[in-house]
Formats: sequence, C-alpha cells, structure tokens
Amino acid sequence: MSRFDDESEAFEGAAQAGGGLSLSQQAIGARGAPYLDDLNPEQRAAVEALDGPVLMLAGAGTGKTKALTTRIAHLLNTGRARPNEILAVTFTNKAAREMKERVARLLGQTVEGMPWLGTFHAIGVKLLRRHAELVGLKSNFTILDTDDQIRLLKQLIQAENIDDKRWPARMLAGLIDGWKNRAWTPEKVPASEAGAYNHRGTEIYAAYQERLRALNAVDFGDLLLHVLTIFQTHADVLAQYRRWFRYILVDEYQDTNVAQYLWLRLLAQKHHNICCVGDDDQSIYGWRGAEVGNILRFEKDFPGATVVRLEQNYRSTPHILAAASGVIAGNEGRLGKTLWTDLAEGEKVRLIGHWDGEEEARWIGDELEALCQGSRGMAPMSLDDCAILVRASHQMRAFEDRFLTIGLPYRVIGGPRFYERLEIRDAMAYFRVAVSPDDDLAFERIVNTPKRGMGDKAMQTLQGIARRQGVPLLEAARIAVAHGELSGKAKGAMGLLVDQFDRWHALALGPLEPVAADADAVIEEDGAQAAGRGAAGISHIELAEQILEESGYTAMWQASKTPEAAGRLENLKELIKALENFDNLQGFLEHVALIMDNETETGEAKVSIMTLHAAKGLEFPAVFLPGWEDGLFPSQRSMDESGLKGVEEERRLAYVGITRAERLCTISFAANRRVYGQWQSALPSRFVDELPAEHVEVLTPPGLYGGGYGAAAPAATLDERVARADVYNSPGWKRMQSRAKARPTAQPSEARHIVIDAEAAPAFELGARVFHRKFGYGAVTGIEGDKLEIAFEKAGTKKIVAGFVVAAESADDVPF
Ligand code: ATP
Ligand code: MG
Repeated sequence: MSRFDDESEAFEGAAQAGGGLSLSQQAIGARGAPYLDDLNPEQRAAVEALDGPVLMLAGAGTGKTKALTTRIAHLLNTGRARPNEILAVTFTNKAAREMKERVARLLGQTVEGMPWLGTFHAIGVKLLRRHAELVGLKSNFTILDTDDQIRLLKQLIQAENIDDKRWPARMLAGLIDGWKNRAWTPEKVPASEAGAYNHRGTEIYAAYQERLRALNAVDFGDLLLHVLTIFQTHADVLAQYRRWFRYILVDEYQDTNVAQYLWLRLLAQKHHNICCVGDDDQSIYGWRGAEVGNILRFEKDFPGATVVRLEQNYRSTPHILAAASGVIAGNEGRLGKTLWTDLAEGEKVRLIGHWDGEEEARWIGDELEALCQGSRGMAPMSLDDCAILVRASHQMRAFEDRFLTIGLPYRVIGGPRFYERLEIRDAMAYFRVAVSPDDDLAFERIVNTPKRGMGDKAMQTLQGIARRQGVPLLEAARIAVAHGELSGKAKGAMGLLVDQFDRWHALALGPLEPVAADADAVIEEDGAQAAGRGAAGISHIELAEQILEESGYTAMWQASKTPEAAGRLENLKELIKALENFDNLQGFLEHVALIMDNETETGEAKVSIMTLHAAKGLEFPAVFLPGWEDGLFPSQRSMDESGLKGVEEERRLAYVGITRAERLCTISFAANRRVYGQWQSALPSRFVDELPAEHVEVLTPPGLYGGGYGAAAPAATLDERVARADVYNSPGWKRMQSRAKARPTAQPSEARHIVIDAEAAPAFELGARVFHRKFGYGAVTGIEGDKLEIAFEKAGTKKIVAGFVVAAESADDVPF
C-alpha cells in the first residue's frame, strides 16, 4: 500500500463525478472575466494567450502560480476546455489542492471534476491504472514504497550471491531511480553505465523489473516510466490523450526530470497548447534528477512560444527581495532576471547568532509569541502566518520540543514529525522496553531490528508462551530460551537480548543523584549531561547511547552506506541530544508520549515547520530560517558530493527560503551544535556572508556576547553596531574575520559582506573573574585553547569550555 492509492481513489471519484461541463457558457457571458482585472499586463498576456505554447519564466513571487491558476479559470470560463480536458501538473498535493480552490474562487463557484489536476505521480497512477495491461500489469497493481523496494532488491541481490555489504541494495535502488528519472528502461540504459554496481547494475535492473511485473507491482519511478513507455509504443493511446488533454499547464517547471519532460513533450507535441512556468533560480531537485535545462529547451521544442517575463514581485518587501537577490547573485550561469516591488520598505532581514540550537529554538519561540501579541510596530500576527524552514529535518526536533514545552501549537508539513520517524520510533521502542519490560508493542517492534533470526515462526513461539503463561513477550523470550524452544540464530540472539534488557532496565531505574561538585571533577561540557547520573555511575544519556550501540541498532544503520542511512544516524544523534533536557529516560518517554498525543488536527492557528524543499511555492508573512551554518546549510554532503554545483543548488535553496517571506524574514545560526555529546563550534553559513549588509539588521540576543547591543537597542547602521560592540574587538572576532576572508566563495567581489562571529565565546585573561550558572563565581587559573581552568569559589577547580562562563559582571545575562 502506498500514499498514492488514496490519491488515486480520490481521482477516480473525481473522474466519475466530473467529465461534464459544470459551467454553462451562458453564465460566463453574463459574468465576464473580472479575474483578469487583478493581473498586470504581462500576466494577462500569459493568461489570454490561450492557444499555443507559453513559457513564463520569472523570479519568485512574481505571480507565476497566480497567472497559471487564472489561466485555468479562463480556459474554463471561456468554454475553451472542460474541466476534464485540462492537464495541470503541480509539485505537491498541497499545491494541487490549493490550485483547485483558487480556480473555484476565481470563478465564484465550485469546479466539478478537474480529474487531471495533480502531481506527476498522482496523474501517473491514474493513467497507469487505465492501461496497465499494455505494460504487462493488471490494473489493481500495488505501489511499493521505498522499504518494499529495498526488500525486493535485497532478495535479488542475495539470489545472485552478491555481497550486499559492499554493494548495498540501497545503492542499487538509488541507481535505478536515477535511471528511471532519465527515462531509461533496462534496454535503454546506455553503455556508459555498464560499470554501475560492480558491472551488474543493468542486469539486476532488468531482473527487478521482471520481478515487479510478476508481483503486479510498481515503484514510484514506474508511475511515470510505464506511462511514458505506453505513450511511446501505443500511438493510439497517445493520440487519445493528445485529444483529451487539450490544454497542458505545468507549475515549477524547473524541477521536472527527463522522464517528466519527455512525457509532457509527447502529449503536447500535436496541439502545442502547453504553458510552463518556472524559475531557474528555484531549481532545487537536481539531486533527484531535475534538469533545469528543460526550461532552456522549451523554446527550441516549441518554436514560436510566447515567452512572458514577469518582474514585479508582489510578495516580499524590498529588503527581503534585495537580500534574496544578493545571495543568488553568487551563482554563475543564471538566466538572470530583474525583480522589483512597490511594497513599502518594511523591516530589514534580521540576522541573529545564538549560542546553540536549543537557544535558537527558545528565541524563535519567544519571537513567535511576541509576533502574535503584535511587536515591532506590526499588527498582531496569527501563528498560521509564520513558518520555520529548516535545511535538514533533524533540526525540527529542537523546535518541536520547545514549542511543546511552552504550549505553542505547531504543525510539521511534508514529512513525519521527528518522533514519528522510523529510526526514532525504533530507538524509542528500545528505551520503552528498557524502562517497562512488559511493553509488548515496543518489544515486537524491535525484536528483529536488527535481524536476530526472529521470523514469523519464532514470534509465534513467543506469543504462544506469553498467552499461555500470561507473561509479557520479553519474559516469554526468557522462557523460550531456557526451554530450548528457539533454534538457530534466534536462540543465541534472544538469550543476549534478554540479558541486555535486564541490565538496561536496572540502569534505567537506578537512583538519581545530582552530580557531586567535588574539587577535581573535570567537566568539559555543560552540567546537564551529568544530571541524570544514576547509582551505577551512568547517566540516562550514556545509557541510551549504550542501548543503541549494544543492541546493534546504530551499527545496522552504519553498515548501510546510503544517503538515507546518514540522515537516520543524524536523527539518532539528535534524539540523544534531546535527552539532555530530561532527568531520566522515563521523563523523556512521557514527554514524547505527550508530543504524539498532540497530533490531532484542530482549527487553532499553528506555526508551520517544514524543510526548505517542502516550502517551494508557498508564502508566509513571517519566515524564520534557522541553522545557517556551514556544513548544515550549505549541507556538507551536498558540497562533498557535488562540489560547486552542490553549493549552487544549496544557494538556490537559500533563495527559495528567503523569498517565502512576505514581511519579516529572520535568519539565524548557532555558534555551537552538539554532535554525539561533543560540542562543535560552527561557522556561520557562507550564505550569511553573502547577504547584502544594507538590507540586514543584525540582532544580538542579550547576554550572548557579554554586552554590546541587544535586540531591543535602537536601530543603528551595521557599522555603528560593529563599532559599538565590544565583541568585535575580541580575538575570536578577529580570528573569525580572517577565516571568513580565507574561505573561498563564489560571491562577486563588489558585494558587501557581513561577517558575524560564530565563535564569539568571550576571551578571558588569566585571573579574570567569571560566572558559571551551576558552579557560581570563580577565577581563571589556566587557558588551554577554548577551555578554561577555573578555580570556583564554592565548587573547586574545573575545566570548562569558555563559552559556558561569562564575565562576572555579566552574571545576570548568563544565557544557559
Ligand atoms: P514562486 O516563484 O514562489 O512560486 P509565484 O511566481 O508563483 O512565486 P505567486 O505565488 O503566484 O508567485 O504570487 C505571489 C503573491 O503575489 C501571491 O500572494 C499573489 O496573490 C500575489 N500576486 C500575484 N500577482 C499579483 C497581481 N497582479 N496583483 C496583486 N497581487 C498579485
Ligand atoms: Mg509559484
């Protein structure tokens, strides 16, 4: 089963209901086309050029989607097309829903039908169900999700005796997806790919396709590829759809891949009634095979196309627009577009550095509350007006936790919430059994993850014992092992697991004492980690790490050398980090249970949290862009894998992010992120340096830099602020500046750079009097890199990372 099945049903339903013309032409005559009055002349030209190819190539917020939607309304309104004669492709289901609603609003009545308005995948499912037999499938085919796909590939790999540690199934799945994106069926994979997957790639690809056919199944890539094959090999079917889809409209055209492009071109080639809109600067799916070249090729494929350029941005204030333009100017090989706006100047883009990710989440939470009260001279906003756009989904966790703590409603768009992710649920299941050994549901979830030879038969054995003796499954496993009721791998593995859970359980429930502040304790991190240390001398954080290590769960993902696995490992680290805010595992599990309980959708306003990728095409009055740190954004992986091309795609993502904002855009970064219990200092993103200074207001949270200026200080120019702030005379600042200068960027030299100190841990001299939140006042007795040896007045001598203390006179400002 997959998410597309539901959609497909919705489409079938729509098809049955629709088909007829719901708007009579007489009615249209009487009503006219008032919606045209809301358009500027260029948009109007694009809407009114109903026949022939139209390309709308324009920057963010210039009303491309608005024009596209109006064009649909106009096609219907003028009687050019009936709802079922329009093929309209959007990028997300959310966008498709919105488009339908907007058309209805423009026409002032509901539009029946529109069965062919949707995402490529949703439309692909629908077409394929109609013609499945032409590619050897039955119309009730199943759609495999990624996990099923991997499982199937694994079977094939095993049958071929290939070492799947060296040649993981996921790697092959990635290859096959890439080939499908390029519209390569097994026969069409070019010779240049022959070496792929140890020279076995194409052969196993063919076997995989055969196997799918035998199972009457398809994967996501097939939804397009099969339809394309049908169009290419059955002229009659293609002719039918060419007649049927009299008008074709495509939003976010810059992100189509080759298969999608060919598919559209085939359909449009006869009547040429195709309207594509896009923005080369917003092409952010190169990693999934999108080809921005499709846009450039349009005029060649459809000669005589009306090319409409839109330049007025209606969404964002001048400062926001200028900041976005400044950043994207760093990319080479752009088509280049002018953008202007006549909106009032508004607020500058705000930039703020935080101590760490938690502090960032705290600050954004406070800001959201302030915005809802009405701050900065603005009318009160609703949380629905606000969005937080992150680069990596693991960033979401800090926000979810903080918002839950302060009771701020939020929604996560376009992906599971942090605690719903597969690896997080697995890890939590381990913790749950460790805390409550009778939690059968959790036990069942992880008993065979990683593989312990606990197949269906072995599980039936355990369940039988559990039922007969009225004991939990873990207990049943103990009995089964003792009585020799398990065999092979399962026997040893269960014996070990039972022992492990016994030990973890004892550790999880150990009495908790605050850490003793004895004279020679060496603390190299914040005291929080030590807070949950139990009698056995192990904190709940260490225990959690141990559980994941000893159970083989972490190793399982480490062994899988795939992009997805890396993300899962990052999420696991993030989970460990989350534990720092709790005294023990139990408290943490309760907190998560609360989060899960908080899921039901109510009508109340909520701030949206989503990835930058999911935010394409959307707009919000207030946008927060956290985590602008090199390595996180631009993402290290993207830079490692694709070099400058990768950085450029990341930069387009930055452009997409900033241009989502209508009135207030706030960019932030943290000076420290904690990775596996280790603090790592982070440099602000190179994109921060690329923001044009005159459009940016630098905020500093009170206390972070030991004085200087705070968020509440009266506005001043950047230079004034720099001159006023003591921190900019610190060694850390100077070091940072020289590093920033040494760092290569693709930024043209005339742009003014803003450089913010990511390492603004205050510099202390020997003998300086300092304050630490937990240990109180003390004097610096030694300096070793960024660590200080401090003789505390009450807590003895300790080594502390410099950033965790402030000058004694700033004790009130201590932010952590
Ligand atoms: P993106 O590149 O981000 O997808 P877009 O070009 O599709 O942006 P739209 O979302 O269509 O832009 O429009 C941006 C905003 O500007 C919307 O709020 C829209 O209603 C408004 N808008 C578009 N055209 C006009 C116009 N002619 N007059 C007034 N407002 C307009
Ligand atoms: Mg749009």
